[in-house]
This record gives sequence, structure tokens and C-alpha cells, in this order.
Amino acid sequence: MVSLDELNQTIVACERCPRLIAHCRQVALEKRRAYRDQAYWGRPVPGLGDPQARVLMVGLAPGAHGANRTGRMFTGDGSGDFLIPTLYRAGFASQPTSTHSGDGLVYKDLYLAAAAHCAPPDNKPSGQEIANCRPYLVEHLRLLCEVSVILALGRIGFEAVLAALVESGVPLPAPRPAFAHGAEQRVGRYVLVASYHPSRQNTQTGRRTADMLDAVLARVKTIAGS
Ligand code: SF4
Repeated sequence: MVSLDELNQTIVACERCPRLIAHCRQVALEKRRAYRDQAYWGRPVPGLGDPQARVLMVGLAPGAHGANRTGRMFTGDGSGDFLIPTLYRAGFASQPTSTHSGDGLVYKDLYLAAAAHCAPPDNKPSGQEIANCRPYLVEHLRLLCEVSVILALGRIGFEAVLAALVESGVPLPAPRPAFAHGAEQRVGRYVLVASYHPSRQNTQTGRRTADMLDAVLARVKTIAGS
């Protein structure tokens, strides 16, 4: 039986998806001009958070110049800039900013995992790449014994959670849970809650607001008894 630390070490060393590994390394070599003096992480990004968390949040994948640069999920890109203040307001994060891995941010009652742990080109992992990464989500579900609420960010994260639950031996209810912002369904011992993904594409248009995410997080907190 592996521990969370061992699982995350395995993730960081993973090379199951050659396309994604090549992309992470290429981005780390080329860099964005604004970060040219920084050493990029350039590898799979591990899960992180409170090992006793009652809430597991599952995102899509690291951002090329965000987590693939900083080595920490939702750190250093537009998604994180939008998400972390909402997590802070909900009491899941110790501070409202997430800029680099040594900035002191600590998660409380929350753990972060992803459908894919490597930054994909155009933010789109293939179905096969998500399937390659699924065993890590299954293992996170197994190791995070206190989790009672799973918050899936975006449709891809939502589908990744459903597939991981099935692979974990959790039967899905009928009708099959469908993705919609704010939707919640009991699946086995979990309550699965869906939210839009806080990517720039979603939040810049104004159709997806911080208030909408605040409301979902308040609901998650209530269900989890946080
Ligand atoms: S996406 Fe997941 S399975 Fe694929 S190389 Fe990265 S860590 Fe490994």
C-alpha cells in the first residue's frame, strides 16, 4: 500500500504520455518572456492539500505557464488567480493568493487532484491521456479516506471523476449524473458537485462569475460539514 507522498512521487516521475511529457519539457525550455529568468517545473504536477480533507477538488490539468512553471496546481496562472481567492473566502485556503510554491499557501479540508497531471497542448488532454492518468485519481480516492464531497471543475474533470469512481467499484446512479454548474448527486459514499472550470476562457467573458463559484463552494462546505 502506498502513501499519498509515494503516490505523488510516482506521478512526478510518470512518463506514460509521451506527447504531454514532451510538451511540458518544451514549454519549460522555451518559457514565456515574462518568466524567462525562472526555472520551470516542466514535469507532471503532483496532487496537494490536506490529507484529512473532506473535500476533493478535481481540475482539468496544469497550465503550461502556471503549474507547469511553478510545480503547484493552480499556482501562477489566470485560473489560480480566479480560484484561490474564492477558496480563501470559503475557508479552504490560508491566503487569497497563490504565486509560487514557497508562498506559504496551505489548504484546509481540501485536496487538489486533476484529470491529467501534465500540461497538455491547448489545454486539451486526449481521451487516452486522461485514461492513462486515471489510476492516479483512483488511488487518490482510495487514500483520501475522509473525503465525502468531490468537487469537479469543468466537464472533463467531471467525466474523469465518474470514470475513476466506476473504476473504484462505485456504481453510478441512474440516470447517470450529468454535468451542470451547481449540480450535485450522491454517488456511493460521496456527494459529487459540479462547477464550471475557472479558466480564463470562462471567467473573462463574465458569463461565469466569482459569485457563482462562491455559491458552489458554500454549498460544498455545508455538505462536507466543514
Ligand atoms: S498525464 Fe498523468 S499519466 Fe500522463 S504522463 Fe502525465 S502524470 Fe503520467
